[in-house]
Amino acid sequence: MQPHALQTLIKNGSYINGQWQASQHTFDVNNPATGELVARVADATKDDALAAIEAADMAFKSWSKTTAAERASLLRKWFNLMIEHADTLGHLLTLEQGKPVAEAIGEIKYGAAYVEWFAEEAKRVYGDTIPGPSPDKRVVVIKQPVGVVTAITPWNFPNAMIARKAAAALAAGCTFVVRPASETPLSALAMAELAEQAGIPAGVLNIVTGTQASDIGKVLTQHPRVAKFTFTGSTGVGKTLIAQCADGVKKVSMELGGNAPFIVFDDADIDAAVDGVIVSKYRNAGQTCVCTNRIYVHDSVHDQFVEKLITKVSALKVGNGLDEGVNIGPLIHQKAVQGVKRLLDDSVEQGAKVVFGGAPQDGSNFFAPTVVTGVTQQMPLAVDEIFGPVSAILRFNEESEVIAQANDSEYGLAAYFYSRDIGRVWRVAEQLEFGMVGINEGAISNAAAPFGGVKQSGNGREGSKYGLEDYLEIKYLCMGGI
Ligand code: NAP
Repeated sequence: MQPHALQTLIKNGSYINGQWQASQHTFDVNNPATGELVARVADATKDDALAAIEAADMAFKSWSKTTAAERASLLRKWFNLMIEHADTLGHLLTLEQGKPVAEAIGEIKYGAAYVEWFAEEAKRVYGDTIPGPSPDKRVVVIKQPVGVVTAITPWNFPNAMIARKAAAALAAGCTFVVRPASETPLSALAMAELAEQAGIPAGVLNIVTGTQASDIGKVLTQHPRVAKFTFTGSTGVGKTLIAQCADGVKKVSMELGGNAPFIVFDDADIDAAVDGVIVSKYRNAGQTCVCTNRIYVHDSVHDQFVEKLITKVSALKVGNGLDEGVNIGPLIHQKAVQGVKRLLDDSVEQGAKVVFGGAPQDGSNFFAPTVVTGVTQQMPLAVDEIFGPVSAILRFNEESEVIAQANDSEYGLAAYFYSRDIGRVWRVAEQLEFGMVGINEGAISNAAAPFGGVKQSGNGREGSKYGLEDYLEIKYLCMGGI
């Protein structure tokens, strides 16, 4: 990766109406592995958010009139540029977010896959004709873009969480304004630079960078010209934002927190289950919404499973994501480290046992991959979203008991289970109250599949053939006098 290539993709201002905008103040973006300054970025105000929405509203007039083929072609060019620059974008992502660079490049390709997917789906927005209620009437259903879409996204996937919203919105004919997390604005701005190079017109895609989350959030959720608001982040903030959208009766879609159970039945392939935990628990240092959170292991295979898991976990290398061979980068900041440490300490106080790893003592953002046994259903490690590299292991005996425990959560995003009994596979899959279920599989997310949760994990789906629906309005035409 050439340093020059990186510099050309580092942008320091918001991207509004096709212009890079400075602000009176800036904020620092620091590397979570080293604390070093990566860039200073414009600290936008709510007036910048207003300007972005006005630009998107103006651009909607022409963008919504383009043909699906025209939008598909521009999205395809954007996709191509993301792939062409995947190494540089991945490097930049590691600098601001911390994940190992191979994983960061993986995220860029994963995000780009949504752009490619929706470039193709843009051409498949079908309506309906329905038999009329009388001989002189015809019933026709058409689908139209909802209008201006606004979004707020988190730091754990600085590229992909934007890509899968923006690509769907643009494919549907909507225009888009996003405020990325203040920890990771650079990946978002680099995406805007490539969108501009792809020829996506001014005002269609706007990025507002800033630390004033609440002020900017109010504009994005309450402006009268905003038709839809979409959020990825914690359930607590999501609830506040839904409430803000209520007054204007905005369409909302929410990708919120998770607390994924991972069940290992006595008939499971234990080695496959261990591999499933490694991929679903330790990716991104445990900081994903679909991360395994509670590992229920059948009593008869518990000790064997724990031993094999420790062997695999002990091979994971912790370090700066830019260094060769690193599997686990830093957590995003000290607050995150202290949050995971608190859940661990409180659970240990209640009787859980650290059998590998443990909380950091050195004040850095690095947290060793950890395995904890003796966890019970009421302990903080089982109740709360851990968001760190800690495996919390619980024992169970009965299928009905473990299903009830898995469902005993306000969250319903992802769940995983391992079994080779086909009858059990259907029974358990159907009873789990989650939007996504991995069966003998720990890596479940891809552009062709509907990503989303039930209960307090949110509503709406991203990706897949269902992902466009959230950005389309159904209009019914009743033709009479025939
Ligand atoms: P968060 O605290 O909810 O922050 C998410 C975004 O909301 C950030 O951009 C943040 O800005 C902004 N924000 C915070 N308070 C706000 C307010 N009052 N008004 C407007 N915006 C506000 O979540 P996080 O800790 O960054 O991310 C982790 C959470 O996201 C986890 O719960 C995880 O499960 C969830 N997540 C869900 C999915 C999914 O698809 N379901 C995917 C990824 C993550 P600042 O960063 O500047 O504070």
